[in-house]
Amino acid sequence: MPSISNLLSFFLYLATSVLADTHEGPPLDLNELFENLHFLDLNGGLNTLPVQKYTITQWGFGTVPSICFDMAADRQCDPHDLEVFDVNFDDCPGYSNVICRCKDSPMSVQDIANDLGRIPVKARQWINHIGTFSAPECSAYSGGNHVVVLGDCLDRASVTIHEVAHSLDGWALYSAQNGQQYSSTTEWHDIISNDMYVADNYAKARWSESWAQVAVMAAYHHNIGSIWDLEVDYMTGQLNKVIEQTEGLLKFVEGRICDRHWPQEPVVCMGDRARNEGYCDGIEDENARMVSFIADGECPALDPEARRQIEEDEKFRKHHAEEEAGLIIAKRFEA
Ligand SMILES: [Zn+2]
Repeated sequence: MPSISNLLSFFLYLATSVLADTHEGPPLDLNELFENLHFLDLNGGLNTLPVQKYTITQWGFGTVPSICFDMAADRQCDPHDLEVFDVNFDDCPGYSNVICRCKDSPMSVQDIANDLGRIPVKARQWINHIGTFSAPECSAYSGGNHVVVLGDCLDRASVTIHEVAHSLDGWALYSAQNGQQYSSTTEWHDIISNDMYVADNYAKARWSESWAQVAVMAAYHHNIGSIWDLEVDYMTGQLNKVIEQTEGLLKFVEGRICDRHWPQEPVVCMGDRARNEGYCDGIEDENARMVSFIADGECPALDPEARRQIEEDEKFRKHHAEEEAGLIIAKRFEA
């Protein structure tokens, strides 16, 4: 019988890999147009996107969304050290994103809210929770409809856009016909093969990374300046496709408001201290929630094939988090 903590982590990885990729990607011998895409942030670039106004309301001590509890466990943050905030953007009345911040994160809640507020609402609405935790350098990953930001990612708009792009690829452009995220379709693979170039080395890590990187370029095109001025003709097929796909998602248009949102996550107790101090009356612990979840037969993580897939995703996710540090250091791992 696997331990509860194993089951928890399996569930976390299951939850974060609902949109699991195939672990295949663009051919590694494709040409790379750029070293990385950070230059799109700078010199009047993506970092200057207007920040949507917002209000922040902090939760009281004691309870956290279950996904944040899991993120914290994953990042060695004591859930009692989580600060939870509802962030309500003016262009999405009645709905809040939730920011879960471990108290030693170098990013303030305002830093994260500003990053999120730069994402045009039709794209931002595909993201639910954002976690922020300490780490030696900036990196980020996404899973399901949640984003985790590690380390100091100030002035890295391209990183946030890249992570949100995974949600667009997986949800907004989900192909019911193919039952998969857009980047897994043969249409996308063929477009890349015809171009023979991808954005950068990181774009080759997976099909989903190639799409997310082009989405960053498309966000630049929609909001900052023509991408075609940057000598990107070798990526014409990819850019034409993603610019068209993201016109209604990643383009800032005054007056646009949200037209969808994610359901609330279950709320759980931070842990024994919070319970002993009387903050969790009537609120489950995460372990108890998981036990009843598994007992209900809703957790396929016990199936060996599902478990293998989840472990593989975990491996990739860690790799991803390391390499996504500004999308700069991927080459270091090439060998
Ligand atoms: Zn990515």
